Amino acid sequence: MELLTDGTEKNPILGFCSNVISRHGKSWPPEEIVLAEEFVQWLGFNSFLTKEALKELCKDKGVNLTVKTLPAGLRGFNCSYQDKREIFLTDEESAVFSDAHTLFHEFREMLEHSFVELGYPTIGAEQSLEVQAETFAMACRMRAVEQELPAFF
Ligand SMILES: [Zn+2]
Repeated sequence: MELLTDGTEKNPILGFCSNVISRHGKSWPPEEIVLAEEFVQWLGFNSFLTKEALKELCKDKGVNLTVKTLPAGLRGFNCSYQDKREIFLTDEESAVFSDAHTLFHEFREMLEHSFVELGYPTIGAEQSLEVQAETFAMACRMRAVEQELPAFF
């Protein structure tokens, strides 16, 4: 999947972040669970998506998702340059939900870069983005399961 960039493309992630700021800016930062709820809804995520379906969701949000072999121990990483945003996920077979967890983690790091760009960092100097991204990923997965519970009955 080619992501065409000509410098004029919109940046959906930046749009999401500025929308969050417009609603929560007065009591900044929002709780991680609140951010997770809004993000899961915005992304249109559910736990039953295949990797191909996840790629489509990401593409809708201007992010190129690539599944490939990564160095041992590395589950994913993300990078942004100019108007191009990419997330890489390991192709290693893993526990159920592991791909989604890694995806949310990488997205959280991207969100933070946009929050910083907009002048609203959510993380203090003494906090770790890695830890926050893990908390966020967990919250997103919980949120997704909550949404889907009725479907099991
Ligand atoms: Zn990370």
